[in-house]
Amino acid sequence: MRLYFLNLGRCDVDKGRVLTPGSGEGQRVIIPIVGYLIETDDGRRILVDSGMHRMHIEDPDATFGGTPFGEALTPIMRPEDDVVNRLAELGMGVEDVDILVSTHFHFDHAGNHGDFGASRVVAQRAAYEFARANPDAFPRDIWDLPQLTYELVDGDVELAPGVTLLASPGHAPGHMSVLVRLPTQAILLTIDAVYTQENVDTDNWAGQRDPEAARASAQRLVEIAERENATMVYGHDPAQWAGLRMAPAFYE
Ligand SMILES: [Zn+2]
Repeated sequence: MRLYFLNLGRCDVDKGRVLTPGSGEGQRVIIPIVGYLIETDDGRRILVDSGMHRMHIEDPDATFGGTPFGEALTPIMRPEDDVVNRLAELGMGVEDVDILVSTHFHFDHAGNHGDFGASRVVAQRAAYEFARANPDAFPRDIWDLPQLTYELVDGDVELAPGVTLLASPGHAPGHMSVLVRLPTQAILLTIDAVYTQENVDTDNWAGQRDPEAARASAQRLVEIAERENATMVYGHDPAQWAGLRMAPAFYE
């Protein structure tokens, strides 16, 4: 089994408004936008999230220009950051993705879901229903598409041998994290349940939609990581991301 880290672009964000309220208001930081590809031993390819829509290459303000989100966050996306191009670097097309795991429906995680109409698309029921009811926060034109058939799940799910989906609500209802048990190490992809190491170190969950739920989810993930001897890989941590091997290199 292999795990690839996909560089799907970056965002220029107001640290104190997005990541760590109370610390760094007005301070801009560049955070990674990420996806993951898991190859299982039986040859299946599981893509976790699809990054920002490629329209942000030409128009960074395409989604949130003129809105309060747009002041706190600006996408930075190059052609090579398009998930289709990252898959091509691995010799794959979208048709080679057997399962798309949609951790939640924010624009930087669900941007290119529309490419995966031939894949199984797995999401938590709570995330799907909440996103449908809140289109301002989860623009539907990128993910609520006729070619997509969602397989809705509730709670933790053993998706494939060594790949466990973990319900981690708080960032959004039905948010998911992913535990990957590779042959030589375990890696827990927190996704947006934990943005950065600083959120854990300072117990700061105020940037999350439901801070108390987010704290409980983060504590559960930390406990699982300790039990599994897993490395936690955070959703948007520039310092940690800079130290990871990017695809086409991989972890196994
Ligand atoms: Zn998010």
